[in-house]
Amino acid sequence: MKFELPKLPYDFGALAPVIGKETVELHYGKHFQTYITNLNNLIPGTKFENADLETIVKESDGAIFNNAGQTLNHNIYFLSFSPNGGGAPQGKLAEAINAAYGNFENFKKEFVAAGVSVFGSGWVWLAKDAAGKLQVSKEANAGNPVTKGLVPLLGFDVWEHSYYLDYQNRRADHLNALWQIIDWKAVEARY
Ligand code: MN
Repeated sequence: MKFELPKLPYDFGALAPVIGKETVELHYGKHFQTYITNLNNLIPGTKFENADLETIVKESDGAIFNNAGQTLNHNIYFLSFSPNGGGAPQGKLAEAINAAYGNFENFKKEFVAAGVSVFGSGWVWLAKDAAGKLQVSKEANAGNPVTKGLVPLLGFDVWEHSYYLDYQNRRADHLNALWQIIDWKAVEARY
């Protein structure tokens, strides 16, 4: 299976100032594209040649896992934003957040704290288990909660390439600002 960059439903500059145009150009156009190109170059001739992306992430290791994981991660990440985003989740996802974290404000605090505490490069995820119960999952490098049998709903990238041009070392400021552009309809659709 040949993987391709998903088309973004917004212009490169549309998420500014939360994520600047140059960051989207580099992060989406260069970093994300490179993971996809690497994956497409690595899988021919392996048992993953015709596998779907989640299967590759669940069953691979080494370079294939790293590039497949980052392809899946950035697919979810870049399709979770909207220049008209923000606000709060609704419906069943909102109920699940309230059940697990008390309220939306507490959830955001816990999620950002988890992201800040990832040492080095990685991700913080909101994921659900088979019963629909939510959990925050910290992952190093290319990690994704699908490898733990969970369904990823929302992921914040804490690799420095995602924020350094706009925020330098201020990872917490970046993560707190991301709430302004979250497309909760897209996140709810994964729940
Ligand atoms: Mn990234």
